[in-house]
Amino acid sequence: MYIRPQILSLITTHQCTAACDHCCFHCTPKITKSIPIERLHTLIDEASEIGSIKVVVFTGGECFLLNRNLDDLIKRATSYNLKTRCVTNGYWGTSKESATSRIRRAYDSGLNEINFSTGTFHSKYVKKEYVLNAALASLELKMRTVINIEIFKGDDFNADFFLKNEILNSYQKNGLLTIQRNVWMHNEGEIDFEYERKHTRFEEKNKTTCSTVLNVITVNPDQNLIACCGLHLEKIADLSLGSIKNKTLKEVIESQQPDLLKIWLHVEGPEKILDFIKSHHPEYELPVNSVHICETCLHLYTDDIAKKVLSENYKLIEEKILDKYYSTLALGYLSDNKFENEVESVFA
Ligand code: SF4
Ligand code: SF4
Repeated sequence: MYIRPQILSLITTHQCTAACDHCCFHCTPKITKSIPIERLHTLIDEASEIGSIKVVVFTGGECFLLNRNLDDLIKRATSYNLKTRCVTNGYWGTSKESATSRIRRAYDSGLNEINFSTGTFHSKYVKKEYVLNAALASLELKMRTVINIEIFKGDDFNADFFLKNEILNSYQKNGLLTIQRNVWMHNEGEIDFEYERKHTRFEEKNKTTCSTVLNVITVNPDQNLIACCGLHLEKIADLSLGSIKNKTLKEVIESQQPDLLKIWLHVEGPEKILDFIKSHHPEYELPVNSVHICETCLHLYTDDIAKKVLSENYKLIEEKILDKYYSTLALGYLSDNKFENEVESVFA
């Protein structure tokens, strides 16, 4: 198998308690498209049969809307010794008591890690105080916790509410908590905003590899299996590996033929691929204002000139990219826990 996934990410539902402007999947309380609960259970069974998968991520939309079904799913994954992570907006942290009672159920079911999303757009729907309650309740159980805070030019969100909180700081020091700022990406929303120059992906230090493609496989509410867990995974048709409505995860993964572009994204990332294109077609206009790796990736996959230049020149680099990939894959067989602690950067 050329794909050796470490993580199965389940976009359990597109329903959310919030309706953030620019949400990557346009989630709202009214949208109810979801993976059927029974199928979520069988997907976990199927993940347990793929030896490389060590972690199951429950995301959305808002995965806590699954209520007790979420706890049952966590229990099922735990019964296979799979680690589990939930990505949430923290709406259930209305008080410290209710946050503790909710997270306790997930914890008792085996939940290992929780990621919260907050910031200017999220806080229109979920108060930052709720996120704090929910994060503190999780940390008191010694659960690994991540708080992702949106960032863009001129955003007036009080990030210090988290960054300067003394209790949170003590958890950061002992390594149980990570607080990070992630660029909030435009996605056909109504409110316009800008970014700082330092966030552009074509700054040399920002040209990273894509750490999720081929490492994380995602099932969305349409029951498509997708080769990454990026923000544009539903917009880039070529990232789809196929439907799992009538096939198992393993059947779909085993049917894949090596795909140079996905491998190249994994090994070098989209900006370096576009740099390669420019080196063979000097008039090519790079999307220099891109601020998110998935934004550059969408450009790469949808730009006709990029596709043409690649199809004419990929042979020049194919061997080098494949060598690099297969040697990492071989190392992965020796180190199965490589991605267990990878922080998910997708906002919920
Ligand atoms: S860069 Fe592309 S392949 Fe990687 S996560 Fe984003 S959309 Fe997926
Ligand atoms: S960004 Fe997250 S919290 Fe906001 S609507 Fe989308 S899924 Fe819900």
